[in-house]
Amino acid sequence: MSKEVRVRFAPSPTGPLHLGGVRTALYNYLFAKKHGGKCILRIEDTDQGRFVPGAEEYIVDSLTWVGVTFDEGVHVGGPDEPYRQSERKEMYRQYAELLIEKGFAYYAFDSAEELEAIREKMKASGNSTWQYNNITRVNMKNSLTLPADEVKRKLEAGDPYVIRIKIPRNEEIRLTDIIRGVVVVNSNNVDDKVLFKSDGMPTYHLANVVDDYLMKISHVIRGEEWLPSAPLHVLLYRYLGWEDLMPEFAHLPLILKPDGNGKLSKRDGDRLGFPVFPLEWKDPDSGEISSGYRESGWFPEAVVNLVALLGWHPADNKEVFSMEELIEGFSLDRVSKSGAKFDVEKAKWFNQHYLRLQSDKTLSAIIKPLVEADGIKVSDALLEKVVAAQKERALYPKDIYTEGKFFFVAPVGFDSDLLQKKWKEGSTELAQQLIPVFESIENFEPVTIESTLKAYLEANKIGVGAVMPLVRILLTGGLTGPAVFDIAAILGKEETLQRMRNGISIISKN
Ligand code: GLU
Repeated sequence: MSKEVRVRFAPSPTGPLHLGGVRTALYNYLFAKKHGGKCILRIEDTDQGRFVPGAEEYIVDSLTWVGVTFDEGVHVGGPDEPYRQSERKEMYRQYAELLIEKGFAYYAFDSAEELEAIREKMKASGNSTWQYNNITRVNMKNSLTLPADEVKRKLEAGDPYVIRIKIPRNEEIRLTDIIRGVVVVNSNNVDDKVLFKSDGMPTYHLANVVDDYLMKISHVIRGEEWLPSAPLHVLLYRYLGWEDLMPEFAHLPLILKPDGNGKLSKRDGDRLGFPVFPLEWKDPDSGEISSGYRESGWFPEAVVNLVALLGWHPADNKEVFSMEELIEGFSLDRVSKSGAKFDVEKAKWFNQHYLRLQSDKTLSAIIKPLVEADGIKVSDALLEKVVAAQKERALYPKDIYTEGKFFFVAPVGFDSDLLQKKWKEGSTELAQQLIPVFESIENFEPVTIESTLKAYLEANKIGVGAVMPLVRILLTGGLTGPAVFDIAAILGKEETLQRMRNGISIISKN
C-alpha cells in the first residue's frame, strides 16, 4: 500500500458497544497493523441529546479488554488532539460557512414544529417519506427562498437556523467500496441533510468528514448502516475541495441473528443466553443490567477470534487465530458483503478451546475466589488437581467449580431417584467389600487404584460396570465427572475411605 494507512474507529457514546462495534474496531486495528499504519479512536459526540454517561469509558475499557489498542485517540492523545468532537466544536463552523460561500449549502430557518407539521400533513395524504430535499426546499424558509436582507436580519437577530447541504438535482454519485465494489446513487435519493446547527454543533456528517480529512484518514472501515451516508460524504469531500484526499471506503456486513433473520440485537442475547456486549453494562437511567462476555467467563482471545470470523474469511480453513495471526492474515478483500450469522455453538467452541489452553495455575487463580466465596478453604495444590481433572468439560472457568464442587464438599445425602435407579439389592454389601481393598492401596494414584480394584473384582468375579457407579455415587453424590480412579486419587486415600464409609452408612439408614 503506497499511501500511509491511517484508520479510525469513531463510535458515538450513546450506550454500550455492541459486538458489531467490537468487530469494526478490530478490523480497523488489524488493517492498520497489517499495513504498518496508525489506528485512531475518535469519539463522535456531537449529538448531545443521545449522549450517555459512562459510554465512552465503556468503549475504551471494552477494547482494552479484547486487546485492540490505538496509536492515537481520546484516551492516549496524539498529534490531532482533541479526539472528542464536542471539544473540536470551534473547528467545524468555518467549513459549514465555506460551503455556504461556495453555494453548496444554505441556511434554513424552518422550526422543528413547522417541519413536524408538514410531515404530519404529508402522512395524512399518504406520503410518509417527506424529505427536505432538492424539490421541497423551494417551498421552505431558507436562504435560497427568502430575500437576502431578510436572511441577514434573521441571522443578526439570532433566529434559530440550521445549515443544510444543497444536494444537486439528478446527478449520479459514485463511489468505490472495497467490499461492495462500485456503488452508484442518484442524488434525487439523497436529502438536504443538516450539517450544522445554530447551537454551534456540527452534525455527524460534517464533523465526520472534516475530521477524517484533518486526521488524514486513508480508509474508512465502518458498518453497513453507514453506506447510505457515503454518497453524501463523497459530495462533501468534493464541495470542500478535498476529493483527491478522500479516504477509501469499506462498509462491513451486518452481524445477523443465529437464524439469519435480521440484525443481531440486544434482545437476542437475552433470549438465547449469550451476551452481545463485551463487558457488563448497567443502563444509567433504568439501572437495567446487560450481561457482558467478560463477566460471563469468556476469554478475550475467544471473543476476538469469534468476532474476527464474523464477515472475514481466511484464505485457508483455519479457525483458531491469535491476534498476531489475524494481523498477518487479515485483508478487506476477504470480507464478504453478505451478513454474517452469529453462531452460538461456534462461539462456545472458541471459549472452550481457549479455556483448555490456560494453565491449571491460571484457572485455579480465577476459580479460587468463587470457592472461597462459598466459605470453602482449599489449598492451591488441590485446586490445581481439580482444574486438571475438570477443565476438558468446562465451557466457562466457573463450571470447573460448579461441576466439581464434590471435590471440596462431601455428599451429605443422596438423591432418592438416583438411589432407586442405581442402588440395588446387595449394593451396600458390594460397596462395603471394597473398603479393605481401598485400604490396601499404598500408592494412592489413579493407575494403582485402577489396577488393584480391577484385580480384586476379577478375582471375585464381580463386574466392573456394577461397581464403579456405586463408588462414584459414594464419592461424588452423582453420576458425572472425571474417571472414578482420578476422583479417588485427587480426594486422597483418607477422604476416599471416609466418603465410602459415610455414604454407606447414610444409605443404610434410609
Ligand atoms: N459515529 C459513527 C458511529 O457511531 C461513526 C460512523 C463512521 O465510522 O463513519 O458509528
